[in-house]
Amino acid sequence: MNGSLNQPVTIIKGIGAETAEALAEMSLFTVGDLLEHFPYRFEDYWLKDLAEVKHDERVTVEGKVHSEPSLIYYARKKSRLTVRLLVGRYLIQVVFFNQPYLKNKLAINETITVTGKWDQHRQTITGNEMQSGEYSKTKEFEPVYAVRGKITVKGIRKYINLAFTQYSHEIEETMPASIIKKYKLLNRRDALRLMHFPMSGEDVKQARRRFVYEEFLFFQIRIQALRKFERENSAGFSQKYNLKKVKAFILALPFPLTDAQKRVINEILADMKSSYRMNRLLQGDVGSGKTVVAAIGLYATVTAGFQGALMVPTEILAEQHAESLNALLSPFGVRCELLTSSVKGKRRKAMLEDLQSGEVDVLIGTHALIQEEVQFSKLGFVITDEQHRFGVEQRRILREKGQSPDVLFMTATPIPRTLAITAFGEMDVSVIDEMPAGRKEIETYWAKHEMLDRILGFMEKELVQGRQAYVICPLIEESDKLDVQNAIDVHSTLTHYFQNRYKVGLMHGRLSFDEKEAVMKAFSTNEIQVLVSTTVVEVGVNVPNATVMVIYDAERFGLSQLHQLRGRVGRGSEQSYCILLANPKTEIGKERMRIMAETNDGFVLSEKDLELRGPGDFFGKKQSGLPEFKVADMVHDYRALETARSDAAVMIQADVFWNSDEYRFLREFLERSGALSGEKLD
Ligand code: ADP
Ligand code: MG
Repeated sequence: MNGSLNQPVTIIKGIGAETAEALAEMSLFTVGDLLEHFPYRFEDYWLKDLAEVKHDERVTVEGKVHSEPSLIYYARKKSRLTVRLLVGRYLIQVVFFNQPYLKNKLAINETITVTGKWDQHRQTITGNEMQSGEYSKTKEFEPVYAVRGKITVKGIRKYINLAFTQYSHEIEETMPASIIKKYKLLNRRDALRLMHFPMSGEDVKQARRRFVYEEFLFFQIRIQALRKFERENSAGFSQKYNLKKVKAFILALPFPLTDAQKRVINEILADMKSSYRMNRLLQGDVGSGKTVVAAIGLYATVTAGFQGALMVPTEILAEQHAESLNALLSPFGVRCELLTSSVKGKRRKAMLEDLQSGEVDVLIGTHALIQEEVQFSKLGFVITDEQHRFGVEQRRILREKGQSPDVLFMTATPIPRTLAITAFGEMDVSVIDEMPAGRKEIETYWAKHEMLDRILGFMEKELVQGRQAYVICPLIEESDKLDVQNAIDVHSTLTHYFQNRYKVGLMHGRLSFDEKEAVMKAFSTNEIQVLVSTTVVEVGVNVPNATVMVIYDAERFGLSQLHQLRGRVGRGSEQSYCILLANPKTEIGKERMRIMAETNDGFVLSEKDLELRGPGDFFGKKQSGLPEFKVADMVHDYRALETARSDAAVMIQADVFWNSDEYRFLREFLERSGALSGEKLD
């Protein structure tokens, strides 16, 4: 934007210095800032039938007061006013917080109109507005803005109105005309008008659609331009691995690689050989064979004269990886070492020295790998497993231990491809989308808790045949204690049930490392047949003889986590089963159980999970690292994101930005964000 829209808000008639100061506290400095301060929701004053209102939606209803209001004061100045209201054929509850004075207006049998948020489960409206008397259509659809300090919602409405009336003629189009035409988007001026002064939900929808696309397009243009710049200018080094040796290593594997494995190995090797610095995400469902791919990559780097590192989230997992990598690599003369917190004293010192002198080829461990004392001699290739568990900072530290090592992030969380690319910025993405041949699909059933006896009977049938079973107890995030108690209770129930016939083990986060290891070992050697556990077994452990996975209170888990847990079975040649014990209360909860029973495909599940939960839940709130937008939502507006991504790719590819005036705004934007010069300014 330019011209008057870049001028301070004080050029608007009706906004003085004092108001400008208050607006500045909300980071609104210019006319343009004000125009782009979008409502975060709209108050819809249309009367609605409660049957059509969704949970958490805002609603206006008219009803008759059905009970004496009750008013409770708490925490000094706080109050809660509750009353029953007959709305058509529904008897609901209305709650007002901190508006005690409303009590006088609530006489039995009087008609009132209430606006507020509908809680479907509690059949309650939390009201924030109320009028005595019948609904009257004075206002219909009103934007609600985030405000701060001295600025009120009414105030900001007024200022935006002034800005729009006086300067709307200066609003310019920022997107190429061809795009506007192709998707029948509103032009920028109309979209801004309808965003602030809509007459209906449809108006808002159209305005939103335009801004969603605009935000995504600019975002995509920026990251793709930066990535292109990185590619053309990155300071990696070429690793001259020994292809003959790598091929011999692959031939010596006890199985042929799947086509998908071959493909991603080629992608990884190509990155290694090139002088780009590899920055690649490897996605593959649980059991798709990522470990072998990692081993091949690590071997390649060793044949090129470099060291490799593998970092995983838990010590148990580090041990398992160390064991399987050692089995694969040591016959080829590769020295793998495991570094965990339990490697102490002299042994640790010696190991670190050997690492620094280059005698250790591959180091495997947890976060311990990124401590300062750990120094490599020539780190060429870094792999992190389940990378979403590591923060950006930790990844950076590890990367900087080598001069400029290639980096591969492995994850079994099947993030939809577009989201992966956007979420993790400038990474390339490889996908293993094929399971090794001969795997049987895990049969998944959803059962209510009342059916526990039948489930135990079913487990016993498998145990009789010499198989083993996992029983997972829910993770209650707020309380580690509850988790443990839960697992202990289930453990004693099952111990009682299986008596002396089968041995039931217990594993939870409160056990020491050695205790956990002992339990895990006992389970993998079949000294324990049933393992009751909290989610500590979630990632990685490999016990092919286990064929039953029972998950208590399965509705507490997200789909991706359920899928991870399910992946603990089905690792051998026998048919495996997953039983979800759940009595979900919500429709979404039921839907999740049905989807789990329906599909074994992690990618399908991840998309469903995103639909049902949102990316924060899926990735774990803090770790999602997804960029934030003003209007757009990466999950909700996923299709638009995809479209914007491919449009941006075409524009970058054709380097259209210099050609015509149509791309002027995008060009200026790219210059500002440094994507044309490679300097990141933000
Ligand atoms: P992930 O880490 O992707 O969950 P793993 O690498 O642990 O999967 O592999 C799961 C199992 O499948 C391991 O026992 C591994 O040896 C085996 N495996 C891997 N690749 C193949 C293949 N191409 N054919 C047959 N079995 C394979
Ligand atoms: Mg694995």
